[in-house]
Amino acid sequence: MPELPEVETVRRGLEPAMVGARLSAIEQRRPDLRFPFPERFAERLTGRRVEALSRRAKYLVAELDSDDALIMHLGMSGRFRVERDGEAAQLGEFHHEHGRESAHDHVVFRLTNGATVTYNDTRRFGFMDLVPRAGLAGCRHFAGMGLEPLGNALSGETIARLFAGKRTPLKAALLDQRLIAGLGNIYVCEALFRASLDPRAPAGSLADAAGGPTGQAELLAGVIRDVLVEAIDAGGSTLRDHAQTDGSLGYFQHAFRVYDREGEPCPVCAAPVRRIVQSGRSTFYCETCQA
Ligand code: ZN
Repeated sequence: MPELPEVETVRRGLEPAMVGARLSAIEQRRPDLRFPFPERFAERLTGRRVEALSRRAKYLVAELDSDDALIMHLGMSGRFRVERDGEAAQLGEFHHEHGRESAHDHVVFRLTNGATVTYNDTRRFGFMDLVPRAGLAGCRHFAGMGLEPLGNALSGETIARLFAGKRTPLKAALLDQRLIAGLGNIYVCEALFRASLDPRAPAGSLADAAGGPTGQAELLAGVIRDVLVEAIDAGGSTLRDHAQTDGSLGYFQHAFRVYDREGEPCPVCAAPVRRIVQSGRSTFYCETCQA
């Protein structure tokens, strides 16, 4: 499943192909993905100029020169391919979990700059929607969503405010999309390891008696940003260093310190990395460093 850094890498790959260009033709090859496409989907996009391509949590948002914003979510297996004038763009080499048969090419966007952007999704858990550009933050996808972990809003102070009084384990609080949006299992495990925090500790332990941030809350805010930025940089260097002929934008492999390393030595103390299950998800951590 693409995590936030992968979605951001996809955004950066799509931006030069889409922003500033007009959508000259849309091929929508099925009535639905995870959800039905909105009514008159192709018609509402055709002829529109893409003014900006942004990201909120794991959603891509293309703002059009109409009243619409196109929201795209990659689900479990969604990926984009960019081709220009029939030639695949040199956009990078990614780790592929699935084949890329054209039978799974569900939407093709043709742009006036000669680029063709194809959405491929074998499992079809992704979706596309059109929502009003005005009041985007309150649209059905983003209302109630927590703060953006890469934005300026994430700080020790906001973590303390969100977590104060909570007895739920830190791991679960960090995965709660109503508090912080877009953090997945991998980066939560990695951030807790880097901050030397026990994933089972109560979330409220990051706030002091007055509700202010502890030093650990400040540290955690910093390492969350670090793990995400490093993964995005890794995706970006993949784009630059390993230019691939098929223009695929999808998944990349990244070295993790504890995630998926059960029984392997902790990179700090060499004790074996442990795996436990919290809220039905695997947590990887070091019992010694994260005590
Ligand atoms: Zn350790």
